[in-house]
Amino acid sequence: MSKLVSFVIPVYNEEESLLALYAALIGVAKKFKEDSEFILINDGSQDRTAEMLQELREKDPRIKYINLSRNFGHQAAITAGMDLCRGDAVIIMDADLQDPPEVVLEMLDRWREGYQVVHAKRTQRKGESIFKKMTAHLFYRLLDVMTPVKIPLDSGDFRLVDRAPLNAFLKLREHDRFVRGMFAWGGFRSTEVEFERDERRAGETKYSFSKMMNLGLSAILSFSDTPLRIIVQLGALMSIFSFFYAGFIFVKAVFFDVYQSGWPTIVTLILFLSGIQLAVIGVVGLYIGRIHQETKGRPLYLVNEAVGFDHTDQPQRAFVATWKD
Ligand code: UDP
Ligand code: MG
Repeated sequence: MSKLVSFVIPVYNEEESLLALYAALIGVAKKFKEDSEFILINDGSQDRTAEMLQELREKDPRIKYINLSRNFGHQAAITAGMDLCRGDAVIIMDADLQDPPEVVLEMLDRWREGYQVVHAKRTQRKGESIFKKMTAHLFYRLLDVMTPVKIPLDSGDFRLVDRAPLNAFLKLREHDRFVRGMFAWGGFRSTEVEFERDERRAGETKYSFSKMMNLGLSAILSFSDTPLRIIVQLGALMSIFSFFYAGFIFVKAVFFDVYQSGWPTIVTLILFLSGIQLAVIGVVGLYIGRIHQETKGRPLYLVNEAVGFDHTDQPQRAFVATWKD
């Protein structure tokens, strides 16, 4: 039997990209011998995305789609798609064609050679603001020094994953999701292919600044305890410093008979220390907030409708309100 390749594509207000995306998908699917299914996850879009998905499904049964009950974010959306897909390999890509579909052919070649995870590394990013390029560049390097797991530099979530690492990944149900890091953590036989990231075909980025910040924070907090280590070191340094400073004042007073009322020093120290303390409590709070979120054990996303999936033997990973054919 022919193998099945699942495309997992999150869509959030992508009415302008959907038709071009579909055309590109069937174009590329013709060029490899495996069967394909296209799983589109509607992440709570407010535009015509949902209707268009329905129309596409009526035209082509390889299209399957999931309507989440609200916007759960890109990382949760791709997890939903991976949960429900059936492929022997899954390909995660964006809906806006910034991840060029031809790269998929190269990924499939690597997969047939025996690689289990093939991620795509961006050599260039076209049509993105200097600000986004710079923050992304810095972020990947910062993350690299902070995490013990080697997370590939300059790679987004565009990748091919074989069924074995995929099943392993599906066991990881943490809420604080940084999917590319989770795959890196998983190991398996991995390789990369290079590509130039195209401009977004239509519409605007759906990754707002706050969504980017949250993703960055999730990455750091869930893969690194460096911030906690830094504050421990900071605290230790400051107490050593204050110990010497006290000695210095003591020696000055006893042996040289010099002592001043010292208001400015005290005020400065209080401000400095209380600032540091607030920052330290804040960092600890961030980690505790994550623990709080994890302990509730809520599902990562809720599915309102799953259309086109065989639901007779679905593993009970997701809450699905309705299954439709
Ligand atoms: N996306 C999503 N939910 C969100 C934000 C984005 O499903 O809350 C999808 C979006 O439709 C696209 C992919 O995630 O398919 C990447 O988003 P985008 O292209 O806006 O990010 P960028 O390429 O600008 O980083
Ligand atoms: Mg994009």
